[in-house]
Amino acid sequence: PSTDSVKVAVRVRPFSQREKNSGSKCVISMHSRTTTIIQDPKNPEHTKTFTFDLAYWSHNGFQKDKDGVFISADPGSKFAGQKEVFHDLGRGILDSAWQGYNTTLLAYGQTGSGKSYSMIGFGANKGIIPNVCEELFQAIENRDKNQEYQFVLLVLPQVRDLLSRIKKPGGLRVREDQQLGFYVDGLKSVPCENYAQIERLMEQGAKIRTTASTNMNASSSRSHMIITIQFKQVFLDRDLTKLSSINLVDLAGSERQKSSGSEGDRLREGSRVNLSLTNLGNVISALADAAMGKKVLHVPYRDSVLTKLLQSALGGNSRTTLIAAISPADICYEETLSTLRYAERVMSQPHFAISTFWVMR
Ligand code: ADP
Ligand code: MG
Repeated sequence: PSTDSVKVAVRVRPFSQREKNSGSKCVISMHSRTTTIIQDPKNPEHTKTFTFDLAYWSHNGFQKDKDGVFISADPGSKFAGQKEVFHDLGRGILDSAWQGYNTTLLAYGQTGSGKSYSMIGFGANKGIIPNVCEELFQAIENRDKNQEYQFVLLVLPQVRDLLSRIKKPGGLRVREDQQLGFYVDGLKSVPCENYAQIERLMEQGAKIRTTASTNMNASSSRSHMIITIQFKQVFLDRDLTKLSSINLVDLAGSERQKSSGSEGDRLREGSRVNLSLTNLGNVISALADAAMGKKVLHVPYRDSVLTKLLQSALGGNSRTTLIAAISPADICYEETLSTLRYAERVMSQPHFAISTFWVMR
């Protein structure tokens, strides 16, 4: 069951060097929209199967082309590279933005599962964000319009501006306005005229993300990064303005913080991150339910900074896509299963009305 308002995709990456070195077995298989995980490769009957809107097999069956881009090794391979992912997910975001909808694309998964690879990409294998930006600029090249960009970093409970080099102790404040809803006070937005400018800003942002986390003694994988593109279309002939925001969110790693390895601030930080991810799941699944026609009394936006900031881009007339990134390896079984469960929970399930018949005698 899928609706336009919430879409869920899963993507499995190749083995990492570490997984190869330790002789890992692949515990994931995919067939069209279903993803199956085996608990124990030696005992293949024990499986769990999930169905999502989209499933991307990026584990094997690929080769490098002359530019270093991973492409399908043969026509029969089910391999999905960056191009396929962008085609399905990025295009939808662009179409929605042109139509004036707010969109949110979130990457969920444990650290090292491939979130940044899908969102940003590496080298020649550009991810969804650069591709979305590139297309936007190509499309508006000949029109006289500017776009504004805002980058926010959430190192919970602090919010930082990735475009500003000025460090504010304690981070920026999140405030609420009757009309605007929640917003970050003092957040800088930068008008951009071409993709090269954005690319520079993203690099600058990535640097600030790394230093900000180091200063706070947190790993950058334990912070959320939100990139917001404010997209404004002015139709002079019709006296109409369409304002939409594209929100691209590289979520913090979803792994459970082990209490043995970390202590004090680190542990508190870690559980705060997990709480914010749980809350995000509650919000999205409430929205998915509402879109399926279920009665939803309360969407808990206010329970975390992340959902406060994304409120206008998650609810109402907006479209949300979650991409669940997973490792193929048996050693990641527990985390992968929990990612699949999270993704399943945010998908709306079909609901059946239960009727009770009284048989009168
Ligand atoms: P995360 O952001 O979830 O912590 P990354 O995106 O940094 O994880 O991915 C971890 C490593 O795996 C990186 O070296 C990345 O290049 C590689 N990787 C992830 N997904 C893919 C993929 N689909 N194809 C090839 N390599 C990938
Ligand atoms: Mg990452």
